[in-house]
Amino acid sequence: MAPIYADLDATLIHSDDYAIYPRPGAAEFLRRLAGHGDVYILSHATLPHVHRALPYLGRGSEYLSGIFSREDLQPVIDQLDSLTATTLPKADLKRLRASIQPLFPAGVIFDDQLVGSDPYFMKSTALGIGGDLWIQVPAYTRVNLNDNALEQAYKKFYRRFVGVNA
Ligand SMILES: [Mg+2]
Repeated sequence: MAPIYADLDATLIHSDDYAIYPRPGAAEFLRRLAGHGDVYILSHATLPHVHRALPYLGRGSEYLSGIFSREDLQPVIDQLDSLTATTLPKADLKRLRASIQPLFPAGVIFDDQLVGSDPYFMKSTALGIGGDLWIQVPAYTRVNLNDNALEQAYKKFYRRFVGVNA
């Protein structure tokens, strides 16, 4: 089974300067995903932040196989930075981006960022994937107990990659 990745901030949690709030359904979402493959956090945040947030996922953290944080992404961040510092035509940028060695095995990722955004290029390059494996989840930017985006995202994943009877 291919690995499955989930972003942390604004996907599984909302955090501000004072507190961390789990998104409704986050633990259940991770539990369901773990039935389809090893589940990893893939976050642009630093490892201490991810570790701070894990307890707020409750039992959900028990379904995680590992964490990849900014420290792990740094080699790809550095290579992308050196590309964008140049003034190459778009087509060349795209080709050079595709030539960067992925850091982690390819798999579906859930993330609040849009395909084509800077975080998208960073993470999709690190995974060696295209937009077809990117499931965009509406950002969880304030506490909303009625938010059901993770349930919707799981259904999308199921329809697209598992079967039609979600
Ligand atoms: Mg995010």
